[in-house]
Amino acid sequence: MKLILGNGKTAQSIAHFLNRNNIVFTLLKDTRKIKDKDVLQGIDEIFVSPGIPQTQNIILWAKAQNIPITSDIELFSHYAKAPIIGITGSNGKSTVTQLLGDMITNNNKKVAVGGNIGKPALDCLSPEVDFYVLELSSYQLDYTQNLNLLTGVVLNITPDHLDRYPSFEHYVNSKLSLYQHCQTKVINSDETLVSQDPSAKHFGIDIPKQDSDFGTVTCHGSCYFLKGNDMLMAVNEMQLIGEHNVTNILAALSLGDQIGLDIAPMVECVKAFKGLEHRLEWVVKKQNIDYYNDSKATNAISTIKAIKALISRHQTISLILGGIPKDEDYSKLFALIDQHITSVILIGQSTNTFKNHLKTTQITQANSMQAAVDIASNTNCEAVLLSPACASFDMFDNFEHRGRVFKEEIKTKY
Ligand code: ADP
Repeated sequence: MKLILGNGKTAQSIAHFLNRNNIVFTLLKDTRKIKDKDVLQGIDEIFVSPGIPQTQNIILWAKAQNIPITSDIELFSHYAKAPIIGITGSNGKSTVTQLLGDMITNNNKKVAVGGNIGKPALDCLSPEVDFYVLELSSYQLDYTQNLNLLTGVVLNITPDHLDRYPSFEHYVNSKLSLYQHCQTKVINSDETLVSQDPSAKHFGIDIPKQDSDFGTVTCHGSCYFLKGNDMLMAVNEMQLIGEHNVTNILAALSLGDQIGLDIAPMVECVKAFKGLEHRLEWVVKKQNIDYYNDSKATNAISTIKAIKALISRHQTISLILGGIPKDEDYSKLFALIDQHITSVILIGQSTNTFKNHLKTTQITQANSMQAAVDIASNTNCEAVLLSPACASFDMFDNFEHRGRVFKEEIKTKY
C-alpha cells in the first residue's frame, strides 16, 4: 500500500494520479498529529509533499524502516515520455520557467509548464507534450532520488529557508543536487557556489568564453545580449527591469539553445515578455508616482535586486518592507536602504527588529497595507515599491494576496 503525506495541491495531484492508475493508497493530511509508528504498517512506498520537513517523526520512522520515500516529481519523471527541463535556484525560478515555456511555444512545440510554479507536475502529464519545463524547489529535490532531466539549471544560491535546513551548506547541497539528475548542465558562471564544468553550457553577465555560451557586452554605451560573438538584441529592448532579469533571460536563452530551439523565436519572446505578476511588476503611474509590486520578494537578496533595479530609474523611492523575517543576514539590505531609500514604511512582525537596524531618516510604521500605501504615497517620492524581503503569513494568506491587496489599495486611493 502507498502512503501520501500532505494536505495541499501536490498531495491531491498524487492521489488523483494513483486513483487514475488504480493504485491503492492512504492519504495522511496532518503528519504532525501522528504519534504512533503503526501508521506505517503495510506501507511499501511514501509520497511526501514538499511542505513536510525531513525532521518530522514519520519521515524519520520511515527511513529507519527502509520504506522508500519519494516525491511527486520522481513519480512524474517515471511516467513522462517527453524530455524534462528542470529549473531551481533561490530566486528567479518562476520567471525563467515561464519564459522558457513561452520560448518553446514560440518554436511551435507543445510544452507543459509546472512543478513549484503552480500546476503540480503530475497534472501536466500528457501524451501530446514535446517538452516539460519544471520549476523545482529544494524541498522537492530533497525527496527526489530518480529524475531524468534532459537539461537543467541552478540559477543562483543565496540564503533562504534556513529554518528547514541544519545549515546553509545543506541548503546549497540540496539545490546542487539538481545537477545529479541532468544529462547536460546549464551553469551560471557568476554563481561561485556552482563549480564550473567544461562540458556544460555557461551563461553570465560577462562576454561569453565559448561560442555556445551566453553573456552580454557593452558597446558604444549600449549593452547587448550575446551568444558567443553574435549580438542577439539590445538589453534595453527587454521589458523586464534590472540586471537580475538580464541573468534570468540569459538562463532561459541558454536552456532553450541547449534543447535545440531556434534563436530568433527565443529573442522575440524575450522582447515580448512582460514578466510575472508580483515580481517587480510595474503597476501604474498615478499623480507622478510609479508603483511597483514586488510582493514575491520574500528574502533579502530579492529586495536588494529590486532596489538596485529601481535606483537607476528613480531619484526618490518609498519602500514598503516587512513581514515574517527569514533566518538570514539582512545587513546588506539595510545598508542599501540607508544609502538609497528616501522613506521606509514598515509592516508586519519584523517592524521592531528592522526599525532598530535602519538608520534611514524617514521610517514609519503601518499596521495595514492601506495605511502603508497611504503613507508611501504622501512621501513626495517618484516611486513606491512594495518589496517586503519577508514572508507574508503574518498579515496575508500568501504573497499573491499581499500583492493583490497592495494593488487594490492603489486603485481605491485615486
Ligand atoms: P522564484 O520562483 O525563485 O521565487 P521569481 O521569478 O518568482 O523566483 O522571483 C522571486 C523574487 O525574486 C521576485 O521579487 C523577483 O523580482 C526576484 N528575482 C527574480 N530573479 C532574481 C534573481 N536572478 N536574483 C535575485 N532576485 C531575483
